[in-house]
Amino acid sequence: MYKILKKTIQSLIPSHLLFRFESPLRYFYYLFFIGNRFQCNICKKKIRCFITTENDKLCPRCGSLQRTRRLWHVIDTEFLNSKSQILDFSPSRCFYHLMKKKNIHYISSDLSGNFLSEKSYDIKAIDTENETFDLIICYHILEHIDDDMQAMKELLRVLKRGGFCLVQTPFKEGQIYENQNIKTPKEREIHFGQADHLRIYSVKGLTARLEHVGFIVETREFNETQENKHGFKTKETILMCKKK
Ligand SMILES: [Zn+2]
Repeated sequence: MYKILKKTIQSLIPSHLLFRFESPLRYFYYLFFIGNRFQCNICKKKIRCFITTENDKLCPRCGSLQRTRRLWHVIDTEFLNSKSQILDFSPSRCFYHLMKKKNIHYISSDLSGNFLSEKSYDIKAIDTENETFDLIICYHILEHIDDDMQAMKELLRVLKRGGFCLVQTPFKEGQIYENQNIKTPKEREIHFGQADHLRIYSVKGLTARLEHVGFIVETREFNETQENKHGFKTKETILMCKKK
């Protein structure tokens, strides 16, 4: 239902207008979801249900994903500090706007041009000094990068001692699945689950690579009931990567 509605709106309204009027359009849609059972922790709106899609539960008001709401919960409870320098790669719009409202030093970076950002760092050669950031958010990025170990080295380099990099990607059981012979978007979609993904990590495999470049990795696992108030994923893993 949500997918059909989204496609219909996209076919009727030009993309630049959609971008400009996303907020009022979402507000109108949200009116049908007003309730008391659940609450988005990003926009704080109380709703009767989230929008259930194939792989996610979206907030009808701000469009937040499950993983974005969890990320905010973790940052809000453990990392928010007015003195912290925070770097985020390709953040969702709702998260970007939320962070910008806080009294913190938050910048985002994106190379694709599809996300709100101040910087366009190449993650394999981040154009900034050593030990610049206290916190780096690297969510659903590494699976897009060919030389992912080089990216991890750079993340470590620009992180301050004692700082954290929060890493998440799609995960599978067992070992990392990579195959250099799979090159076309169509093949990648079949093998890696998305046309621009270059591999599927496992928690164990990604942890090993992060440790190899020098991070101290804590695997944080979250378990929630199906009906949890903020619409978090029932099972989710974040790799909390610390620089010694
Ligand atoms: Zn929301």
